[in-house]
Amino acid sequence: MAVRLREALATLPGYVGGRTVPDAIKLASNETPYPALPHVVARLTDTLRAANRYPDPASSKLTAALAERNELPVTRVVVGCGSVSLCQQLVQISTQVGDEVVYGWRAFEAYPIVAAIAGAAHTRVPLRDEVHDLAAMADAVTDATRLVFVCNPNNPTGTAVRTADLTAFLAAVPDHVLVVLDEAYHEFVTDPDVPDGRTLLDDHPNLVVLRTFSKAYGLAGLRVGYALAGDQSVATGLKQVQVPFAVSQLAQDAALACLEPEAEKELFTRVETVLAERARVGNALREMGYAVPPTQANFVWLALGERTADWAAGCAEQRVIVRPFAGEGARVTIGTPDENDQFLDAARALAE
Ligand SMILES: *Cc1c(COP(=O)(O)O)cnc(C)c1O
Repeated sequence: MAVRLREALATLPGYVGGRTVPDAIKLASNETPYPALPHVVARLTDTLRAANRYPDPASSKLTAALAERNELPVTRVVVGCGSVSLCQQLVQISTQVGDEVVYGWRAFEAYPIVAAIAGAAHTRVPLRDEVHDLAAMADAVTDATRLVFVCNPNNPTGTAVRTADLTAFLAAVPDHVLVVLDEAYHEFVTDPDVPDGRTLLDDHPNLVVLRTFSKAYGLAGLRVGYALAGDQSVATGLKQVQVPFAVSQLAQDAALACLEPEAEKELFTRVETVLAERARVGNALREMGYAVPPTQANFVWLALGERTADWAAGCAEQRVIVRPFAGEGARVTIGTPDENDQFLDAARALAE
């Protein structure tokens, strides 16, 4: 007799990771194209040697460093096994079967998965001109809603909501509904009118800000991110549902090293390069006739509609792997200048 598993598993959407193809350039997963920061790598030899020991289950040192840097009490900071894991924990602590999760669409593809795993219902609110329609998202909140995800800048469009719209949204959403502001691409934001969620936490106990070391800091392979909570009860809940020892010591120590001044300097240089390349790639694509909305992240979105799958296949033939969303568009990560040149050659060849 077959083992009885939860019915929900039959309809659970799968997470489609960016493809890795030997000898092809991978611009599909919003990773930095550069290896981990040299300062961080130099720090990890001793940690690796101590791998016979379990990690600090509370990530105490990293939590304290993040609390200090963000001027929050340590009781409102939680380190997790990547911010995806924290997304799942946030749904777990706020919803029961039948409760609702609201998010804009298209946004980060992990949101429907973590909602479905929890047995929550989802309400998807279409983007408007490729940007989160926060007014419509506030209107979509019902008595059954427990959590709203706002991805800012948004993956996969790169677009960002502005401060006035976000504060109006926070004022409109009832205080008992958790608002999760996913700022995975925070380090790439240059527009001063794009809010830093951290500054809104003290006025909004129902707000949680998610950050990660996976993108700008170059630690996607180590799995470490963190939550900054408006209220201590949310942070406590996150720790209650955390899988014990979920964050390895290597990840904790690498993240801690990322916060040291030497690493910050290295990071700054890399981010500057990405920002210059983001402008160059976006402008070149627009000159070729592509519709590319303004981006505040380390990727661009090409609104290709029905052409998307063929276009992405055309890129792959030229050994450039992008991330297509069939029927909608393609997301392309900003790589090194050489990688971007190769991508632009492919895009030029495929332009109409
Ligand atoms: C990449 C990404 C993350 C990061 O996830 P980790 O688990 O920290 O690697 C989170 N949210 C969004 C929107 C992302 O694009």
